[in-house]
Amino acid sequence: MALKQREFRQIVENAHDAIVVTEAGSLDEPGPVVVYCNKAFIELSGYSEAEILGKSPRMLQGELTDREQLDKIREALSRGEAVRAQLLNYNKAGERYWVDMSIRPIYGESGTITHFVAIERDITQWHQQQDLLYRMAVTDELTGLFNRRMFFEVGAKYLQLAIRHGKPLSVVMMDLDHFKRVNDRHGHQTGDIVLRLIGQVLMASVRESDVVARLGGEEFGLLLPETRREEAMPVVQRIQQSLAAALRQSDLPADACITMSVGVTLSSSNDEVLDSVMLRADRAMYAAKQNGRNRIEVMI
Ligand code: GH3
Ligand code: MG
Ligand code: MG
Repeated sequence: MALKQREFRQIVENAHDAIVVTEAGSLDEPGPVVVYCNKAFIELSGYSEAEILGKSPRMLQGELTDREQLDKIREALSRGEAVRAQLLNYNKAGERYWVDMSIRPIYGESGTITHFVAIERDITQWHQQQDLLYRMAVTDELTGLFNRRMFFEVGAKYLQLAIRHGKPLSVVMMDLDHFKRVNDRHGHQTGDIVLRLIGQVLMASVRESDVVARLGGEEFGLLLPETRREEAMPVVQRIQQSLAAALRQSDLPADACITMSVGVTLSSSNDEVLDSVMLRADRAMYAAKQNGRNRIEVMI
């Protein structure tokens, strides 16, 4: 026996996914208004039915909601097509949540679109897990800096941009001096504290567009886009000074207050790959070691 309307209503009302129906009005501001929402939608959005009905679902969007996704939805609906999108929404308390939504038009008997229905699944947890996985994949666990993989990935992009736009890119390699001694004298844990402190100093010393990473054991890398050599030098000097100050102010034993040898280079239009830039930075860094450590060498 076919289901009756009342039974259909119960199914929709109690569905685990959030369901919201709007009129098919103009997609221009303020947009189609809600004529129905189920319990899951009320729970997810935190708004009561009375607060939602007659309003546009746009009230759930906010600063970080992806404009491209919204355009995609709008374009599909204006063509009368169904669309699927992942969208960041904001509940009544202003908290963010992610939905995987499919929106489709509902056609009336005359063949014109009368409503749009959106079925939304809460994927906030999945998104948080993805964020966590991503963070783990690109960061170094000990220092919280980017890891080697991320450094090379971003570095390759920065190099392409630098070459395309004829802008300078400074690349810096830093290696701690006699770090093995710190471990040998004070234990690996103290060594780890030093590494973390260095991570903090580096992070605090660069601009947002700069990239700082832990490339390996006690080796760090720095990418300074749109930065000439003359501008890179003061950045590196500032890092050395900040590091010395941070170590002095710490509780670390005096002989754990170490220095670093620094190699600086600049990308050129001959550098087809980042590896060739890194090789020069590495050579410059080794020259700094050979010339007495705790110094900066430049190789262009
Ligand atoms: P140099 O001035 O020539 O660079 O001397 P160094 O002692 O710093 O260099 P070396 O390559 O001989 O030793 C690097 C040391 O870094 C070896 C290792 O014990 C230490 N190290 C590497 N990774 C870690 C880490 O994650 N934690 C700690 N505590 N030490 C690390
Ligand atoms: Mg080393
Ligand atoms: Mg070293």
